[in-house]
Amino acid sequence: MPHGSRTNAVMGDQAATKNPGASLAQRERRIVRLERERGCAVIVLDNPPVNVASAALRAQLLDAVRELAADDGIKAAVLIGAGKTFVSGADLKEFGGPLLPPEMPQVLAALGDCPKPIVAALHGAAMGGGFELALACDARIGAPDLVVALPEVKLGIIPGAGGTQRVPRLIGVSKAIEFITSGRRMPAQEALALGLLDAIAKADLRAEAVALALSLSGKRNLAAVPVPAENDEVVAAAADSALKKAKGRPYIARAVEAVRWAAETPLDEGMARERAAFHALRTAEEAFALRHLFFAEREASRLRDLEGVPARALAKVAVIGAGTMGSGIAAALIESGLHTLLIDTKTDALQRAQSKIAELQARAVAQTRIDQATAQARLERLTLGSELAPARDADLVIEAVFEDMGVKAKVMAELDRVMKPDAILATNTSYLNVDVLAAATGRPHLVLGLHFFSPANVMRLLEIVRGAKTSRETLATGFALARRLGKVGVLAGVCEGFIGNRIYNVYRNQCEFMLQEGALPQDIDDALEDFGFAMGPFRVGDLSGLDIAWANRKRQAATRDPRARHVAILDRLCEAGRFGQKTGAGWYGYPHGARRGEPDPLVEKIIIEESAANGFARRKIAPEEIVDRALGAMINEARLVLADGIAQRASDIDLVFAHGYGFPDYRGGPLFWASRQDPARIARAVDLVAAATGFGFRRAAEIR
Ligand code: NAD
Repeated sequence: MPHGSRTNAVMGDQAATKNPGASLAQRERRIVRLERERGCAVIVLDNPPVNVASAALRAQLLDAVRELAADDGIKAAVLIGAGKTFVSGADLKEFGGPLLPPEMPQVLAALGDCPKPIVAALHGAAMGGGFELALACDARIGAPDLVVALPEVKLGIIPGAGGTQRVPRLIGVSKAIEFITSGRRMPAQEALALGLLDAIAKADLRAEAVALALSLSGKRNLAAVPVPAENDEVVAAAADSALKKAKGRPYIARAVEAVRWAAETPLDEGMARERAAFHALRTAEEAFALRHLFFAEREASRLRDLEGVPARALAKVAVIGAGTMGSGIAAALIESGLHTLLIDTKTDALQRAQSKIAELQARAVAQTRIDQATAQARLERLTLGSELAPARDADLVIEAVFEDMGVKAKVMAELDRVMKPDAILATNTSYLNVDVLAAATGRPHLVLGLHFFSPANVMRLLEIVRGAKTSRETLATGFALARRLGKVGVLAGVCEGFIGNRIYNVYRNQCEFMLQEGALPQDIDDALEDFGFAMGPFRVGDLSGLDIAWANRKRQAATRDPRARHVAILDRLCEAGRFGQKTGAGWYGYPHGARRGEPDPLVEKIIIEESAANGFARRKIAPEEIVDRALGAMINEARLVLADGIAQRASDIDLVFAHGYGFPDYRGGPLFWASRQDPARIARAVDLVAAATGFGFRRAAEIR
């Protein structure tokens, strides 16, 4: 994992872990070298591409530590990574079964027992087990571009080699709770200020590390360092804030507990308890689910027919439409270093977009995520305009105008006339047919869908839609852009709603059926939020606006088979001007600008009337039935999406739902979750969905 990449859950890299320490040949390959420099041993860890702490690396490092301990000519030692980075993390492939010896704590114990001072020289990323290795050394010096992280919670575990015990000894319990339960990447400057680093290298990391190691007169034993005293309330506040994210995530609570042990127990004992908790978590269901998503992400960008196809270099991008999506997309683009021209026919839309983007940067500065100069540089990359003609300079244009075929086709055709002949044209449409839009241009091979999710500067998912004529280079450029933006690109084929919205619609329809049969919006939202969704479908609807779905329904009304079950509640809400939060009313009421909606008697009345008008005797629907039907609908449609070739693989669909639709990541996505259930439960759920849906229901062949 090259440092600077925004992939956040990095604890290993598949390329490096195909064969986790298993083969003799790999174990014997020298990936740890002991070099000598002025009486100092320099232990070079050289396990490309990202120095994963594989079993082979651990074994050879243990040998090297023993060798330097026994060599009288060596006074001190430095640990350093070869290539782009220090050790980027553990070898995830190992985590599902028994770990191979020697385990990390054994290596760290040898470092501690070695009578000579050892300095960790860090560059790139020191993450997970890699950072724990550094923490077990007597001092740490970092290159200016270093980032450190203990991202274990993102994989459903806690640090298992001293991280939860050593970090609080250096920076205190409250800060350690924040750092470890967020799993965030911390830049070198912050790590220095807090005390996780002892120095930042000025010019030559290796030479400065050697000088530091030789200057240390003896071991610095963290076991003897007490956890800095802190006000109980500060610690309690940090714990409370972390525990807010702990629902369904037992590893967060374990991480908080483990950090608190540091203040109460000797280092050795704390480490033993931490290790036991780590082992229990790594084989728990949540960890399997999160590892599944981790590997799914690496897999998603591997497309057989794109191998070796170069992506187009992008310097300038234009975004057409400065509304909700266009402004968010432009923010993401300038943040990634791209010069961006944002075009809208309405000057007030442009002004709103500009203030929103400036505000995002100001907030990032206030939160110390970036400095003022970076914010300034980003804003300087943004240009606003009210005409399409300047899009002639762009290498890529992304249209994000109204979701209307006529409007979009006209804009695409106009863009085609002004753009450079070889420039790429993307549409951010949520549902419309990309092939029809491509046909409005004279360059269908350069047209693709880039379906961003709202808010586009935050959401990690990007559906990359391949039209019938989209060229391989155009697609490769879409994937390269996703990487550059720190997003997860997932390939989708053309159909109504692509992967995500197609499946989501079926799920939402099933939820509307349940309203008609007897449930209320809060019953359904609460049941699905208890399952782990970030938000239930009706709260999502109110947040994103019901008018989009309404417009879509009106568009489909002409071709909808009268035999198909249609629930008109949403139409009636919209007819009453209830478009969601933005109008102060939707599925819920939002009196006095409340952010969380409240059940509204008027909505209940509309729902009850709708039930009566359609001959439903309302009944109470249990939360278990709500979950089974909502997920049954989702899983069945997901299987159909696969069967229809709209998605390439099941794990791509899991990524789409975990990263774009608030599906609980610790359940691994809908298809992973389904694969861990009793098949009879899924089949029964789909039976219920089939009965409720009636006309037009198509059952996936795999669900029997
Ligand atoms: P929006 O109404 O907020 O913004 C659309 C903007 O396009 C407006 O500012 C409008 O002035 C501008 N516009 C319209 N015609 C134009 C033209 N001919 N030239 C230049 N500008 C023009 O809409 P939005 O929510 O940002 O959605 C935009 C697109 O993104 C739609 O296709 C939508 O389906 C898709 N999308 C939306 C979401 C979402 O959650 N809102 C998510 C994914 C994709």
